[in-house]
Amino acid sequence: MTTSPSSLHISSELEKDADSGITAGDKSAFRDVLSKDHARRGKAPLHLVDMTDEERKEHAKELGMPAFRVKQLAQHYFAHFDTNVSEFSDFPSSLAQTAKDAFFPDLITPVLEQEADKGETIKTLWKLFDDSRIESVLMKYPQRVTLCISSQVGCGMDCPFCATGRLGLTRNMSAGEILEQVRIAALQCESGRLPGGPTRLSNIVFMGMGEALGNYKAMMKAIRQISALPPEGFGISARNITLSTVGVVPGIRKLITEHIPVRLAVSLHAPSDELRDELVPMNRRFNTTQVLDAAHDYYLSSKRRVSIEYALMRGINDQAEHAQLLAKRLNHYGDDWVHVNPIPLNPIEGSRWTASKPEDEAQFIDILRKAGISATLRDTRGSDIDGACGQLAAKELAQDLVRRS
Ligand code: SAH
Repeated sequence: MTTSPSSLHISSELEKDADSGITAGDKSAFRDVLSKDHARRGKAPLHLVDMTDEERKEHAKELGMPAFRVKQLAQHYFAHFDTNVSEFSDFPSSLAQTAKDAFFPDLITPVLEQEADKGETIKTLWKLFDDSRIESVLMKYPQRVTLCISSQVGCGMDCPFCATGRLGLTRNMSAGEILEQVRIAALQCESGRLPGGPTRLSNIVFMGMGEALGNYKAMMKAIRQISALPPEGFGISARNITLSTVGVVPGIRKLITEHIPVRLAVSLHAPSDELRDELVPMNRRFNTTQVLDAAHDYYLSSKRRVSIEYALMRGINDQAEHAQLLAKRLNHYGDDWVHVNPIPLNPIEGSRWTASKPEDEAQFIDILRKAGISATLRDTRGSDIDGACGQLAAKELAQDLVRRS
């Protein structure tokens, strides 16, 4: 990193950005959901994708590079997923190292890879610049290839059944760190890393570590650059991006104003406040009525059906009465605005909750469908490799903590 006045200006702007997520920032009402560590940690090195076009050009100028070089770099990055500047045939070799250092720092490095489902699921544990760990999961399906990405190191939402929730939040990820997961997966797809040969990364889900609406600015920057066409972005349609949230209502409402047609998924997990207060602690801030109202408003403005995530936990939230109440609460808003995605709980070590019985899962879905609500049991890709997102990194971190204590 250079420390000339204008690059300092860029970093302080970005610092402001990174800290102004819905749940972040000193003045935020949700400051308390961040761990104390968060503020002390440094920021990830700046990457091309963290900068606006103006900032990129300004930065290039300081480095003695004409502005049009920035567009070339963006073209290689977004159209070819390539950051090896020294190999760009249209780029002067004398500027290659400077450009690489200034715009394409290596933000994420693989630490561990695990495969499941005959190689159709690849889970990667990544190391970040400050030695933090996050993970992503690439999944090939007959009609699509989906990447599940992380948006925060750890998570501050504290859901007791979730491995990441147990870690607490370390820090927000930068747009660069979020987008590098996408670029590398897109490159893997293109280079034939998945069975069946070269393919295209088609879908992105924010269902890895973290609460993306708690890192709003970086998340939005990432979404815009996932969906824009090259050289502004990867050209993965916003309609193929799913944003999963615990139900941070101001974040959902802000998202409505962006008018970008991502699919919204809400982690409901319980049909009543009494039960959800326990399973999803954020419910004490934003209760089921507020969350469903916001989700329905999102549907009205985006015309996109909202997904309701519901982890089925044996004897806790998976009985007929729960399905009936859920159906009633969803039908309150009218027909066909929502799709329920129950998933059998992937139990984490030492948890008092376990997965539902298959017959209870079947009954749950049956009750919803009979009430006119579309519902499908979500597949449990890679559960043999701690596949529910967040669990691999969580396990590694937990082991690390034990080793250090
Ligand atoms: N913060 C976001 C993303 C979390 S991960 C959110 O809350 O939606 C994506 C989904 O996996 C969420 O619905 C989350 O509740 C669910 N999940 C977490 N741990 C799980 C587990 N052990 N078994 C099944 N689903 C789990």
